[in-house]
Amino acid sequence: MSDSRAFCPRCGGQVPERPPDDEATGSLRPSASVDLCRSCYFDDFEFVDAPDDLTVPVCGRCGAVKKGERWVDVDAVDYTDVAIDAVSEALGVHVDVEDVAWQVEPEHVDQNTIRMHCHFTGVVRDEPVSEEVVVPVTIARGTCTRCGRIAGDYYASLVQLRAADRTPSAEELARTKEIANEVVADMEATGDRNAFVTEMGEVDAGLDVKVSTTKIGKKIAYKVVEEFGGTVTDSETLVTEDEDGNEVYRVTFAIRLPPYTPGDVVDLADDDDGPVLVRSARGNLKGVRLTSGGRYEAAHEDGVSPDARKLGTQEDGVETTLVTVEDEHAIQVLDPETYEAKTIARPDYVDPDAETVRVLKSRAGLHVLPDQQTDERASDGG
Ligand SMILES: [Zn+2]
Ligand SMILES: [Zn+2]
Repeated sequence: MSDSRAFCPRCGGQVPERPPDDEATGSLRPSASVDLCRSCYFDDFEFVDAPDDLTVPVCGRCGAVKKGERWVDVDAVDYTDVAIDAVSEALGVHVDVEDVAWQVEPEHVDQNTIRMHCHFTGVVRDEPVSEEVVVPVTIARGTCTRCGRIAGDYYASLVQLRAADRTPSAEELARTKEIANEVVADMEATGDRNAFVTEMGEVDAGLDVKVSTTKIGKKIAYKVVEEFGGTVTDSETLVTEDEDGNEVYRVTFAIRLPPYTPGDVVDLADDDDGPVLVRSARGNLKGVRLTSGGRYEAAHEDGVSPDARKLGTQEDGVETTLVTVEDEHAIQVLDPETYEAKTIARPDYVDPDAETVRVLKSRAGLHVLPDQQTDERASDGG
């Protein structure tokens, strides 16, 4: 084969013999036997295939860039890098060229137009080649799907924070808002562009949170209940039909927080064992008896809402003098209002050497509250 002669299929000119190692690889290609001569090859040769111009759609609100059919978040201060990426994706170089290198010089024409001067070099048929192309890139500012939905107050799910026989506390309201933002941030971190809070608003009975997807609504609701106890019920409302005629539902997750919260002091209707300081409202209501210091847990059927009345909270407690320890069941303290010495129940958390104790005066009488330290020990142990 080394002595075979080839002729250019276009002009009939003789094609010079190629080096043996070139022929070895070349002979594998079907076109190897019909290679054009150098002149005809370079007549047709197009080093760089570039579009006449490029348009990059970007969201004027959030800065996302549209790639194909998808909007993608980019951390771009300006769009030069985005434009360079778009150009490099749109350019093609001839497959025969080896050692391709290119440089790009962006020329900012105006705020939305960048002219990309691209310089290419390479080697083909052992000859160095170079080419310069200019691609004007237009940054087209619009609104991405997500921002369009946010602007249109779109929401697919409503989370309602309510509480049984009371309104949610400031802490519960604040924490629920925090949880909503956390859930959305977590989803965003996984690249979910459709995660957003449409609106959060306090209402007389609690808080309404409108979110972009049912999944987010559900996550928020169950996380709140995991922290504060209570129940979630969901219901669907048909809101519209989409372009394809499918029914679109909006799902409401109604959270009902338990009637009593940790720190509440309650008097149970069913027993005479004294008031209970609530420690937990998850599962069943749990707490500590203010008369004995013993543990309380509501029966399973009562759950978090046994029949009870609220006497006050731990914060309502006031410091008063511990006059004397009478016996293992009784101590004498000064009534914080009348300063009379009164004999009251002695729960086991009272330090007999203490000079003062915190007491709660309520409809049920005078009771000693555990201090913060005892609190922690008790909940660690329980
Ligand atoms: Zn030729
Ligand atoms: Zn956007």
